[in-house]
Amino acid sequence: MSNTSVYLDYAATTPVKPEVIKAMTLALESHGNASSVHGFGRDARHKVEGARALIAKRYHTKPSQITFTSGATEANNLAFHQFVGRPHIVSAIEHPSIMQTAHAPLIIDVQEDGAINLNSLEELLKANPHAFVSIMLVNNETGVIQPVKEAAALAKEYGAIIHCDAVQGAGRMPINFKDLGVDMMSISAHKLGGPQGIGALIANDTIKLAPMITGGSQESRKRAGTENVAAITGFGCAVELIDADLEKASEWIKWRGMFEMLITQRVPQAKVFGADAPRVAGISCITMPGVRNDTQLMAFDLAGVAVSSGSACSSGKVQPSPVLKAMGASEADATSAIRVSFGWGTSIAELEKLAELWLNLYQRSSKTKAA
Ligand code: PMP
Repeated sequence: MSNTSVYLDYAATTPVKPEVIKAMTLALESHGNASSVHGFGRDARHKVEGARALIAKRYHTKPSQITFTSGATEANNLAFHQFVGRPHIVSAIEHPSIMQTAHAPLIIDVQEDGAINLNSLEELLKANPHAFVSIMLVNNETGVIQPVKEAAALAKEYGAIIHCDAVQGAGRMPINFKDLGVDMMSISAHKLGGPQGIGALIANDTIKLAPMITGGSQESRKRAGTENVAAITGFGCAVELIDADLEKASEWIKWRGMFEMLITQRVPQAKVFGADAPRVAGISCITMPGVRNDTQLMAFDLAGVAVSSGSACSSGKVQPSPVLKAMGASEADATSAIRVSFGWGTSIAELEKLAELWLNLYQRSSKTKAA
């Protein structure tokens, strides 16, 4: 057990809200397979459909358009599974569950501010009008909100199909599936106060989802396997509770501004990625000049604060974050950035504590280098 007591890694996974734990516990205490015809089964079915209705209401879609999956990775895979024969167009900053699923993807450029370049998308659509396009709603490293509505309108103009990985936006901003204009959208419960291992793919009626997992008639034959009643119940409950987070968004933007200011006022060379673009409230990506992010992560962890980085560390060598590289970041900046992400359980004092630790570490590292 680590001594970490300050958790600032909400973009990796959020703590589960107490109301969700309560709802899930109750669901676990009353067994039943949602496919059984008897009373136990009907109770389980009632829970599953209740959650589906809550999710449909939240994202302005119909319950029949929601297919539960094991998370957004599976939802993203399921979306691509429908269109394997089309050219795949994805942005340069997508999650690995998109990047590694797309076949020979054509890549949409990203601007320096962290938003995708719509001209680049249009050029790709001109050459591949019937493509399958996938663009995320909010980037998981920078928090930058992507122009998905505009991208969807462009995709439609050219006759393409468009999917949106809305995982990092689903609990952080209002979303209207119909209004967004996409054909499919992936969401995940553990990024919005719900449990891990449950997500959903929302699909327009025009798309008759072919299952990737076969072997049963669950989820209207679109995804076989006994429904995880407790997790689905928790998902529905978490989605119902999002309003409280949305109400705090303007305050959280101020907290984030304060955190970034505490650092950049003292260390103006510290770069905040995506600062010039619209961002969701609870994500900040900041460089500590000259200090590798794995060094920062370890130092903060020792002091009891959990943050993360977008860089992968393989064989002891830190690889620069592909997202930051796509934004034009230098190798040095892309290997010295950490992601600070927060939400419903965070206090302003926790962000102040991290800012203080950050400044101390920077000072110590600068002194070591000067010595
Ligand atoms: N897409 C994005 C943007 C994500 O941040 C994540 C989670 N890291 C996923 C997809 C995958 O979601 P899950 O953990 O539910 O498979």
